[in-house]
Amino acid sequence: MSRYWSDHLADLAPYVAGEQPKVANLLKLNTNEHPYGPSPSVLEAIKGAATDRLRLYPDNECTALREAIAALHGLQADQVFAGNGSDEVLAHIFNALFRRAGRPLLMPDISYSFYRTYCKLYKIEPDIVPLAADYSIRVADYTARHAVAPAGIIFANPNAPTGMALSLDDISAIAGANPDIPVVVDEAYVDFGADSAVALLGRHDNIVVVHTLSKSRSLAGLRVGFAMASAEIVDGLNRVKDSFNSYPLDSLAQAGAVAALRDTAHFDRTRRAVMDTRDGLAQQLATLGFQVLPSQANFVFARHPQFDGAALSHALRAQGILVRHFKLPRIDQFLRISVGTPDDCARLCNTLAEILTKTH
Ligand code: PMP
Repeated sequence: MSRYWSDHLADLAPYVAGEQPKVANLLKLNTNEHPYGPSPSVLEAIKGAATDRLRLYPDNECTALREAIAALHGLQADQVFAGNGSDEVLAHIFNALFRRAGRPLLMPDISYSFYRTYCKLYKIEPDIVPLAADYSIRVADYTARHAVAPAGIIFANPNAPTGMALSLDDISAIAGANPDIPVVVDEAYVDFGADSAVALLGRHDNIVVVHTLSKSRSLAGLRVGFAMASAEIVDGLNRVKDSFNSYPLDSLAQAGAVAALRDTAHFDRTRRAVMDTRDGLAQQLATLGFQVLPSQANFVFARHPQFDGAALSHALRAQGILVRHFKLPRIDQFLRISVGTPDDCARLCNTLAEILTKTH
């Protein structure tokens, strides 16, 4: 603590992002970035927006972007909220929806670790619900009556870092059993094989679906995320946004994001390539003796019964390959490996095969 800091900084537990290496030639399979670039039309749109109009503030309501998202998902524009990456959107969701006196937030023990960080930042009590032994979310834990009425529910679908997904029937059951609280479904990875809960918005006005352009649109560097929900919930998010930063998305990001959403051909081609490569990677890892959880994301989560997770992660790093390892209960033997190109995955598997034979 510094004597200059606000009191609550002592309690924070900041999110630790995956390494962004400063040296070249490392194979980055640690932050779930897309191995193929964004649509060329995105680069054109950004170049087109890089004019002297940058002297003006951007559209604070992200009108064109929200309309493009609404059209894509069959919603009204007032059901869409855009932010500077889905992390910012999630932060506003925690602030706007989950700060209810004496009421905890239900979330899985293994999920996106930023949720716990936001709980600390906004002084929200988490009510941590363990995943089942097979690492799936147990729906009954969220549909049962709770001793203390929760402030809300949040989980990622597919979950991170497991990659495992719930069906829409399961999500509908959770939302239906909790009609008076927001149920937030973080769909950062949904485009790699799971079904989007956007389809449930007409039936459940307590569902909030969060998307990002960082993964399936290959735009992690642009920082664009958005939430889709009832106009009433979006209104609450706007109150927080306009009490924090009215211009979260710059004009270049807004132009690039609209172009990305319009190029459905590029989107479909590249996400399908990632899904195909993922299924091959999972098979190869299984052949090497890994237990691989069934992934519907652009990463796989795998452990080897005979080799320590941290040691494997270090050995890969020494060979120039970055994967993500979490020193956390229940998952400290796992590696989270982002799906790269087929060549990237072949290099990873060959290197792992060498490490396994050398250290045996
Ligand atoms: N949700 C989940 C589950 C994630 O893994 C990530 C990426 N770290 C995010 C949200 C945030 O993504 P971004 O801020 O790049 O949109």
